[in-house]
Amino acid sequence: ARRAALAASTGPGATADGHKVPLLANIGGPADVEAAVDAGAEGVGLFRTEFLFLDDSKQAPSEEKQVAAYRQVLEAFPEGRVVVRVLDAGADKPLDFLTPADEPNPALGVRGLRTLLDHPDVLRTQLTALAKAAEGLPVYLEVMAPMVADRTDARAFADACREAGLRAKFGAMVEIPSAALRARSILQEVEFLSLGTNDLAQYTFAADRQVGAVSRLQDPWQPALLDLVALSAESAKAEGKSCGVCGEAASDPLLACVLAGLGVTSLSMGAASIPYVRATLAKYTLAQCERAAAAARASDSAEDARSAAQAVLSGE
Ligand code: PEP
Ligand code: MG
Repeated sequence: ARRAALAASTGPGATADGHKVPLLANIGGPADVEAAVDAGAEGVGLFRTEFLFLDDSKQAPSEEKQVAAYRQVLEAFPEGRVVVRVLDAGADKPLDFLTPADEPNPALGVRGLRTLLDHPDVLRTQLTALAKAAEGLPVYLEVMAPMVADRTDARAFADACREAGLRAKFGAMVEIPSAALRARSILQEVEFLSLGTNDLAQYTFAADRQVGAVSRLQDPWQPALLDLVALSAESAKAEGKSCGVCGEAASDPLLACVLAGLGVTSLSMGAASIPYVRATLAKYTLAQCERAAAAARASDSAEDARSAAQAVLSGE
């Protein structure tokens, strides 16, 4: 029965009453595109471009090499959305030639957008390659920066995109609590937000995502994390802009319903999770998702939030 339900689950993501929540794929490169298309992804919500930089430990890949890789991905989603994240080097993704070797606390050091602002040539090459890759294609290209802390960061990124002649929407990832708290200010500079809940949990709870001993605090059902998601989504709505989720949180079908209830406008996840999330979302109305979200936020632990949302959705 479970398999039949999944097979019947095709088409765009939506709640039972037709509220659309586009389901997008997280990919690491052209090799992941086929699985995303097979799962019925409506586009790519997070293209992690780090993979391109792993072949050579001394320098960034050439513009030509980047254009070819980006074009392969963009061509797979004609008329679809593709959200490309510029290089997120540092902390859990160090690169020899970019990441300082002597930082006492790499997760709190030069990583993500900070790295790119220190190496404007690397950012410029990547943005120029994206502009060239998208030339003549009907795709909706969106480009976002990881680890945006404030409006100054968002403006620096938007300026770099404009200088590279990129015709795309520019966005900011919300991975640092300051970005969620000041989302409306960041949205004066960029057109969309995307919540990276893996890092947002890490920085909200001061709990290293690579340290198993603190994994309890990395649970995306933590009510404090849900509060920051809600604040980001409400801020985007007030500014007439979108706010997606591309962290692991989006791949938990029950939590996906809660995220939709919090006002998140799209969900991006590993392709394998898309059919499960689509099938679960289709079972509940937006109003039910909103009630589940309110119940989760009224809880005081991740465990209680999960069971409270479950109770609402199963009509207990
Ligand atoms: C995140 O932090 O949630 C995210 C999507 O980015 P990454 O996992 O690549 O850091
Ligand atoms: Mg991240």
